[in-house]
Amino acid sequence: MPTEDPAVPIVCTECETETRVPLSEVADALSRHNEGTHGGEEVAEVDPGLKDQLADLVAEDIGLFEED
Ligand SMILES: [Zn+2]
Repeated sequence: MPTEDPAVPIVCTECETETRVPLSEVADALSRHNEGTHGGEEVAEVDPGLKDQLADLVAEDIGLFEED
């Protein structure tokens, strides 16, 4: 099963927007939005509910839960 970039929801509480971007573009999208829209303040962030899942994904990537 190929490990494609999962789409990650980015939420901005101030703009009340939610955007999905590929995992590899999250950092870029966040800094672009926060720089461009909020003068560099870190308003937009990865959906907090997803951070745990992301941690799991990363853990899987490094083989913590590898079984066979
Ligand atoms: Zn915003």
